[in-house]
Amino acid sequence: MILVRAPQPALDQAALTRRVIAACRDVIVEHEAYLCDLDCAIGDGDHGTNMRRGLEALTGESEHLATVPFSEAMIAAGTVLVMSIGGAAGPLYGTLLMEIGKGMAADPSAAFADVFQQAVAAVARRGKSSPGEKTLLDVLYPLSDALIEQMPLSLLAEESQGFANKTIDMKALRGRASFLGERSIGHMDPGAASCALLCATICRELVLAGAA
Ligand SMILES: [Mg+2]
Repeated sequence: MILVRAPQPALDQAALTRRVIAACRDVIVEHEAYLCDLDCAIGDGDHGTNMRRGLEALTGESEHLATVPFSEAMIAAGTVLVMSIGGAAGPLYGTLLMEIGKGMAADPSAAFADVFQQAVAAVARRGKSSPGEKTLLDVLYPLSDALIEQMPLSLLAEESQGFANKTIDMKALRGRASFLGERSIGHMDPGAASCALLCATICRELVLAGAA
């Protein structure tokens, strides 16, 4: 039997924003224990809980974020994440979104990939970190390169977990995990793990919505 799917009506910006936020919240809630387990191995075990708190706070602001211009929404969302995630990850995720918003506001005609690249550099400065040090930057940098190279988002959704997997063999040089030195090797970085989950989720939602 052949099932023919009804064509999806095009989503407007507001509906897409609501759907992306809800999907990000769902994937983090679903993986809360997994992210906490990863953080237990090389940190203090709260990354899943912190991320859930952040995504639930973002969901609470969903209606506002859906109805303001994209740049404004990104700055507001970044502010929410800084205040709600806490720990080391809050300022990093918050910086990423706020810098994307500021970049889009400064030059609305700029290519998203270029704005994203600048925002990732700002996250690195904020964390005084570089790729290869077993952090979420090890997902953000290859993600940025893939966007610059115009990798299709459907493929990027599949690739992003691979970026996080590469942190397993890295020695942590930043944050609490760095105190473990060599013993941090063999564990995936929890920040890289949450970043890969969110990246894959956002890419899939954009593809589903026909926005990419
Ligand atoms: Mg932690």
